[in-house]
Amino acid sequence: MTVASAATTVAAVIGDPITHSLSPRIHNAAFAATGLDWVFVALPVPAGKADAALDGVRHLGLAGLSVTMPHKDAVAVAADERSPAVDALGAANCVVAVGDGRVRAENTDGVGFVAGLQDDAGVSPNDRRVAVLGAGGAARAVVDAVARAGATEVIVVNRSATRAEAAAALAPIARVGTIDDVRDADIVVNATPIGMLADSAMPCDPGLITRDQVVVDLVYGPQPTTWVRALRRTGHEAHDGTSMLVHQAAAAFTLWTGVEAPIDAMREAVTAGV
Ligand code: NAP
Repeated sequence: MTVASAATTVAAVIGDPITHSLSPRIHNAAFAATGLDWVFVALPVPAGKADAALDGVRHLGLAGLSVTMPHKDAVAVAADERSPAVDALGAANCVVAVGDGRVRAENTDGVGFVAGLQDDAGVSPNDRRVAVLGAGGAARAVVDAVARAGATEVIVVNRSATRAEAAAALAPIARVGTIDDVRDADIVVNATPIGMLADSAMPCDPGLITRDQVVVDLVYGPQPTTWVRALRRTGHEAHDGTSMLVHQAAAAFTLWTGVEAPIDAMREAVTAGV
């Protein structure tokens, strides 16, 4: 392990709660693998204090932040600059210090999803129909990213209609659908926390999924969800959210450092930590 010195660059994750975060593990593994004299720490920042945290970046010389609940929306507003994804989503998961005391808000969840899909399944959303179950922050990032990546149609299926409509409004090729629309998709994404909340619950009946579809459950953890296990048992291609987690962190790493992310070391750190 590198010993921090006066020359060490600091990056951090902010959130509340924050002690469960895998970000320090992932990013410190990446700094070690690339030989960078950087260190990554977790900073508990209570709701309503995102502005103060960004001032900390500006004045303490931090290189950047990962941003988690409850600050994703507030950071998008308080940053000096925003990426196109942040402008579209109104939420940020990453902050980059860009010099002259300015900070830029970024959202790497969507690019992380697309890169993870390529890594896991060798599939691009280009020219595909994508069904997204859920309409929260993760679902919105996926809708925006797959539309930017050339999906022909995105169907949002969600419990509450208002949030479904807001997510579908992110892209002209997106619409609100019902669970039956899952049958017509090439890629089916669970962006609800259902498999995380209750062991036996599933976001949709595995019987709706056909063998030529690729399934990604954004939930990740030591065990695949009941849904992913049920699909794999019947020979379907189903992936969990680990690759998205690794690739959203990898995108942030490169934004901060300008260095290509050591994906294998980052994935190993996640696998050891979940
Ligand atoms: P969120 O903003 O709270 O949104 C949750 C969504 O799931 C909402 O659309 C909600 O519906 C729906 N939902 C929640 N409980 C439900 C239930 N019991 N039945 C039906 N629908 C339900 O959460 P999020 O930040 O988008 O995260 C969603 C999941 O993705 C979490 O499990 C999170 O861990 C995972 N995630 C993974 C990654 C990764 O890198 N792999 C990244 C981000 C998130 P309503 O709109 O009706 O409330």
